[in-house]
Amino acid sequence: MKLRSYICGDWFEAKDGFVDVRSAVDGRAVAQVSSSGVDFGAALEYARRVGGPALRELTLHDRADMIKRLALHLSDRKHPFCELSYDTGATQKDCFFDIDGGILTLFSFASKARCELPNARIALDGPIEPLSRGGTFAGRHILTSLQGVAIHINAFNFPCWGMLEKLAPSIIAGVPLVVKPATQSAYVAHAVFEEIVRSGIFPAGSLQFVAGSLGDTLERLTGQDLVSFTGSRSTSLQLQAIPAIRENAVRFIAEQDSLNAAILGPDAGPGSPEFDLFVKEVVRELTAKTGQRCTCIRRALAPRAIIDDVQRAVSGRLGEVVIGDPREEGVTMGALISLGQREEVRANVAHLAKEAAIVYGDPFHVRTVGGNTGNGAFISPIVLRCDAPLAAKDVHRVEAFGPVTTLMPYDGIAQAVAIANRGEGSLVASVFSYDANAVDEIVRGIAAFHGRILVVDRDCAKEQTGHGSPLAPLVHGGPGRAGGGEEMGGIRGVFHYMQRTAVQGSPSRLATVTGQWNPGAAETPSARHPFEVPYDALTIGETFRTGGREITLEDIERFAALTGDEFYAHMNEAAAKASPFFEGRVAHGYLLLAFAAGLFVKPELGPVLANYGLDDLRFLKPVYPGDTLRVRLVVKEKRPRKPEYGEVRWSVTLFNQNDAVVAQYDLLTMNATTEHVPVLREAIQAGSGGPRGGTRGGAQRS
Ligand code: NAP
Repeated sequence: MKLRSYICGDWFEAKDGFVDVRSAVDGRAVAQVSSSGVDFGAALEYARRVGGPALRELTLHDRADMIKRLALHLSDRKHPFCELSYDTGATQKDCFFDIDGGILTLFSFASKARCELPNARIALDGPIEPLSRGGTFAGRHILTSLQGVAIHINAFNFPCWGMLEKLAPSIIAGVPLVVKPATQSAYVAHAVFEEIVRSGIFPAGSLQFVAGSLGDTLERLTGQDLVSFTGSRSTSLQLQAIPAIRENAVRFIAEQDSLNAAILGPDAGPGSPEFDLFVKEVVRELTAKTGQRCTCIRRALAPRAIIDDVQRAVSGRLGEVVIGDPREEGVTMGALISLGQREEVRANVAHLAKEAAIVYGDPFHVRTVGGNTGNGAFISPIVLRCDAPLAAKDVHRVEAFGPVTTLMPYDGIAQAVAIANRGEGSLVASVFSYDANAVDEIVRGIAAFHGRILVVDRDCAKEQTGHGSPLAPLVHGGPGRAGGGEEMGGIRGVFHYMQRTAVQGSPSRLATVTGQWNPGAAETPSARHPFEVPYDALTIGETFRTGGREITLEDIERFAALTGDEFYAHMNEAAAKASPFFEGRVAHGYLLLAFAAGLFVKPELGPVLANYGLDDLRFLKPVYPGDTLRVRLVVKEKRPRKPEYGEVRWSVTLFNQNDAVVAQYDLLTMNATTEHVPVLREAIQAGSGGPRGGTRGGAQRS
């Protein structure tokens, strides 16, 4: 099978320069790869001229919707990917992590983007910053899409997940991309990419694919482009040294080698749940994906007094591992990606063996199941033991990217911390302990050197996702040797493809730029009560001011009796006076909220369907009996949810009779769209047995 590149909106097949990619399991040629003849300059130009503008035309939510549609599209068509993956040496479980994991990552990015980002072309970072006394000048950080191309260079180990994990934030950020999968597993990435093209979801120019070398692509990059790289540290350093990347300050996101550690706590002796969990996890990490995971536990630390027990337990479990053709029933560990990779692992084990003894496995002998495995890249799991880890160097530096780990004893927590940090920056460390103080000390000691820390104990044992499973909302990346920072994961993964800019100006201008009303910006008096206006007809800045309501002592007492809240500040005049905050008895904050709702809620069935909650509530000034409450309601932001309704964020301000602000918060409501108001009204009325009766009659009250 000759893999093609997808360039300038078309599939391109090279004429020469092909490299054979062989099955990791039986050595037969499964694909041929070449990008000879690809016009890389044209590809970059096409992405910048066609793909970028098309993506930037869409809102962040539109782009997130495309990612969700892609996730659904791939979910229905994923089975052939798994079949292909067997030839990379992956077992069924490994495929699940790569393919299902990749699709889940798409879902997660899409949903987080819709929930956490505005339905606009720019994203906001942080609140408005007042910059003047009079409130006429303020600042805000906005994030806009970079106007170049993202070059995604992926490692061989997760051809699907690795590609989708980068594709989602790039597209949501509005940046077109060129994917370059690792040659050894490019046929899996190619099959997934073919399906992405077939889906027809993305605008022209937003996605391109290079099967084979990137040619001179990286020499052509500008300051608006970026590289998102996953692979070895040596390749990463080589690429970062390319003059165009250095001189144009091209963003370079690197996810590279990582000498991750797992630490068994001093409390977790043999027989404890944490001991068993540790042993299980070390073995799982060694065998999953044949140890070719960036998160694999390369250094397993245990108290010196029980290191022999750990060694025995790990070896015992490894004895049960069945190695062979992943298509064979019962196989629990597959092959390395290639014979070349096996040579590299053997060489690195030889290197490690200068500082550590091999205590399990033989890099040159392995028993396999399956008929045709003789030419496959199989290797036994290898456990080394380094008894003086602080005196050693390479056990903390050399990554044997296969089923290889080194056991290391430690004497005391401070030493465990020092050993873990000798990795000089890792993606992940895990701590297995049920001792709160030990965990606290270890986490504080190692956090600066790690992107993620997993703490495992008996309480979370059943639901924890494991040392090697970064979940999409969390950081995937690490400091120092691991690449340099919290690169992927969560909404920050999207921000990486955007430029953060501070915009300063009047509150009204900031509101125009950000699409979000902020205090001090112009208010537009609402012609109608805003609760009568359907979602789509509401405008940002539309304002409604209520009449007043006096708060009496009787209100406070009745509220206290009704709720049981008899806090001294509401019920005891002398005590309230004596406090540093009050001059006498004050109204309950919750009473103010309830009375405010009473002032602005319209009881008739209308567009407002439900109260979704409050954000950023502050009680700023006490309210005393005799004070009069008024409310200002401003449409601050709108987020579409479904065709039938959207979410409205209202800025709610409570004033007293002197126009002083006594409380402030954001109210969230779900509001029906014009088209659906009559439908929903009818449904609610039918359910309630009439406009005022039945149990569901008050559905639109907040
Ligand atoms: P690699 O040899 O460094 O290759 C990584 C990618 O770089 C491949 O796509 C490769 O393409 C490409 N590449 C190599 N030279 C290039 C050049 N001159 N210009 C442009 N692209 C170039 O790494 P690998 O063997 O695929 O993956 C294993 C390594 O990745 C391990 O060290 C592992 O720790 C690391 N990794 C890290 C993470 C993480 O998140 N930190 C995740 C997964 C893997 P070709 O295949 O065509 O050479």
